[in-house]
Amino acid sequence: MATIHKIASVGHPVLRQVARRITAEKLKSPSMQVFIDDLIATMRDANGAGLAANQIYKPIAICAIEVHDNPRYPYKPNIPLTVLVNPVLSPIGDATFDNYEGCLSVPNLRGVVPRFAEIQVSAMDRHGNSIEEIVRGVKAGTYQHEVDHLNGTLFLDRVTNSHTLTTWTEFERHHKEGFVKQITATVNQYGE
Ligand code: ZN
Repeated sequence: MATIHKIASVGHPVLRQVARRITAEKLKSPSMQVFIDDLIATMRDANGAGLAANQIYKPIAICAIEVHDNPRYPYKPNIPLTVLVNPVLSPIGDATFDNYEGCLSVPNLRGVVPRFAEIQVSAMDRHGNSIEEIVRGVKAGTYQHEVDHLNGTLFLDRVTNSHTLTTWTEFERHHKEGFVKQITATVNQYGE
């Protein structure tokens, strides 16, 4: 039975630590596999689209991503459960899109962040197998948000116009309609 962990909030130093990379051998240990199950369970419990290990106070380079009809982000295309270990992202080309992001570690705030539209992902899965894939569109935005956490970066650091900052209630009232129109075009362009 997995354990639901407490999630660190902005201001806690663990969110600013660069996560330690881990070896394939360490990854295969029973305690690390239990930790990954806990990370996934905590992400699902909080309705997150992703969760990085330092968000549950353990600064190691592991994050989980999953979108399945997410109530926090109803416009996001689904992403099957993905665990990335030691992930490195490289942008392909210069194209970006504007993403209205939120974060379980930044309660009740959202803001617009430019994200690369296409990235190359190099990582290990939870069993130490190599992952090499190209990810596009809104899905690529989710990957960039989670891997940022492992580098001690929050979406707040990437908000270029502070006037886009909004609570979730004011997002619904004033920003959602325009954003959903724009992001739907992004989803249609990249297919994810
Ligand atoms: Zn986050």
